[in-house]
Amino acid sequence: MAELKLSESRDLTRIERIGAHSHIRGLGLDSGLEARGVSEGMVGQAPARKAAGVILQMIKEGKIAGRAVLLAGQPGTGKTAIAMGMAKSLGQETPFAMMAGSELFSLEMSKTEALMQAFRKSIGVRIKEETEVIEGEVVEVQIDRPAVSGAASKTGKLTLKTTEMETVYDLGAKMIESLGKEKVQSGDVIAIDKASGKITKLGRSFARSRDYDAVSSHTKFLQCPDGELQKRKEVVHCVTLHEIDVINSRTQGFLALFTGDTGEIRAEVREQIDTKVAEWREEGKAEIVPGVLFIDEVHMLDIECFSFLNRALENDMAPILVVATNRGITTIRGTNYKSPHGIPIDLLDRLLIISTQPYTEDEIRKILDIRCQEEDVEMSEDAKVLLTKIGVEASLRYAIHLITAASLACQKRKGKLVEMEDISRVYQLFLDVKRSTQYLMEYQNQYMFSEVPTREGDED
Ligand code: ATP
Repeated sequence: MAELKLSESRDLTRIERIGAHSHIRGLGLDSGLEARGVSEGMVGQAPARKAAGVILQMIKEGKIAGRAVLLAGQPGTGKTAIAMGMAKSLGQETPFAMMAGSELFSLEMSKTEALMQAFRKSIGVRIKEETEVIEGEVVEVQIDRPAVSGAASKTGKLTLKTTEMETVYDLGAKMIESLGKEKVQSGDVIAIDKASGKITKLGRSFARSRDYDAVSSHTKFLQCPDGELQKRKEVVHCVTLHEIDVINSRTQGFLALFTGDTGEIRAEVREQIDTKVAEWREEGKAEIVPGVLFIDEVHMLDIECFSFLNRALENDMAPILVVATNRGITTIRGTNYKSPHGIPIDLLDRLLIISTQPYTEDEIRKILDIRCQEEDVEMSEDAKVLLTKIGVEASLRYAIHLITAASLACQKRKGKLVEMEDISRVYQLFLDVKRSTQYLMEYQNQYMFSEVPTREGDED
C-alpha cells in the first residue's frame, strides 16, 4: 500500500454555517450534568439534555464502542438541537458526522457503502509523530549569495552553539528560505526542526522566559552520542478513518474530500488501512477516537440499512450512533411490517431511548428570544408576545421562520423595531401547516391527484 498521507487532510472535518441550530453552543449542563434553565442556547427539555450529557460523558471517556441512542419525539421538540449540542460539546478532536436517512437514497453508491463511509467519518485516529528539534544560539550565519526566497540552489552555513559545543550546519534551500523570513543574526536563540528544516527564532530572552518553560514541558530532551543537545517534539495529527480511506484509494487523493466525489471504496483498501492502523496502535503510534454518527430521520432507512447497523455496531471500533425520528408506529421501509418508529425491534432493543417533550409557552418564548438575538433582530415586547402565541398555536419552527421575514417587513417600512404589524403581515403572507391544510381541504378538487391519504405512512 502506498505510504499513508495524513497531514494534508487536517481541519476538513468541521465547517460551520449559520443555520437553524447556530444558536446552540452546547447542552447547557452544569458539572453534575444537570440541565441549566437557559444555557449555551438551550432551553428546557431538561431530562433529555441530561441523558444526552451522560452519553457524552461515555464518549469522552472513549472506552465504550458501539452504543446507540434514539432521540424520539414530536416534530420540533429539539431532537436535532440536542444532537447539535452534543457535537458542540465534543472537543475538536472527536469526530461528529451527521446525515439524514434520506441522503442514502440520493447518492451514486450503494446504501450500505454510504453508511460505511458515514461510520468511518465518525471514527478518528490520533497519530503521533516525533520530530527532532535542535536548539541553540546562533554564532554565525554564512550564505553564499544573498537569500532570495525560492532560490533552491543556494547553500550556506550556520554555526550554532548548543550548551556543550559549536556545530556547523550546511544549510539547505528550505532552511535558507525560512532563515530569510526569520532574519536570524548572531546571538539569536533559534530552534531547527530536523524533519522540516524550519528555523524558528525564539528571541534572545527566550531561554529565560515563561514561553520557554511552556515549550520545554511538551518536549523530551535527549543527549545524542556526539554531545548535541536535541529535543524531541511530539506532533499529533487527527484524521478520520474515512479520510485515510479516500486519500489512499484515489489518484486525486485528498482533493476528493473537498468535492465529495469519493466513489465506492474497495473493501481491500479498507482492510489494508485497518491492518496498518492496528499496527500503529500496537506500536503506540496511534489511538482510535470513537466519535459520533448522527442519523436524522432514521425511519427513512430500509431493512437492509437496519441490518447493516446491527452488524456495524458490533465492531470494537464502532462510534456512538445517535439516531432521531418523529414517527410513531409505522411501516419499516422495505417490508410490510409495522414497528415503533419504523425501526425493527431487534435494533430498537439495542437503542437507549431518549424522549423529547413538547415545549411550554414560556420555553417557546425563551427559544424565540434566543433566535432573535442570533438573527440580530430587535423586536418589541408586544410582537414577541404575538410571535410566542403563533409558536404555541402553529409550531415553534414556523414562529422561528417568521423572525427574519418580519424583520424584512420592518426594514421595508423603514422601522427600527419589529412590531406586531410586521408579524401579522408575514403571518398573512406565509401559511403555517394548519392553515395550508385547511385551504387544501376547501379547494382540494382544483388540485391534481387530490386524494386525501387514507392509510398511515402513505406519504413514504
Ligand atoms: P423534527 O422531528 O421535525 O426533525 P426536531 O425535534 O429535530 O424536529 P429541531 O429541528 O431540533 O426539532 O427544533 C426546531 C427548531 O427549534 C430548531 O431551530 C432548534 O434549534 C430549535 N430548538 C428546539 N429545541 C430547542 C431548545 N431546547 N433550545 C433551543 N432551541 C431549540
